[in-house]
Amino acid sequence: MARLGSLTINPLTRGPKIDAEFRSSVNGVFVAGNLLRGVETADRCAIEGMKAGKSIARYLK
Ligand SMILES: Cc1cc2nc3c(=O)[nH]c(=O)nc-3n(C[C@H](O)[C@H](O)[C@H](O)COP(=O)(O)OP(=O)(O)OC[C@H]3O[C@@H](n4cnc5c(N)ncnc54)[C@H](O)[C@@H]3O)c2cc1C
Repeated sequence: MARLGSLTINPLTRGPKIDAEFRSSVNGVFVAGNLLRGVETADRCAIEGMKAGKSIARYLK
């Protein structure tokens, strides 16, 4: 889905490239969790999701 959506891929993680606000290279598309890289624990993914959600809320405002 990330590749079909033309998101820039991080060659190190092989997941979408994001900035500190979880923004991908495509305006309005945010990425968190295991889509970013190999499998992580559920708590780390949940914390990332929470942070990305806050970033999305700021974007929508
Ligand atoms: C059997 C099993 C046991 C596990 N046990 C543990 C454990 O004990 N402790 C631990 O820390 N971690 C465990 N994990 C890992 C943990 O579940 C994951 O690391 C975590 O859930 C990843 O979170 P995520 O938000 O990245 O992805 P997910 O939780 O997988 O969320 C992705 C969401 O995207 C949705 N989705 C997928 N494709 C599309 C689409 N095309 N359109 C719209 N929605 C879509 C899915 O339905 C899903 O709701 C386990 C995983 C599995 C499979």
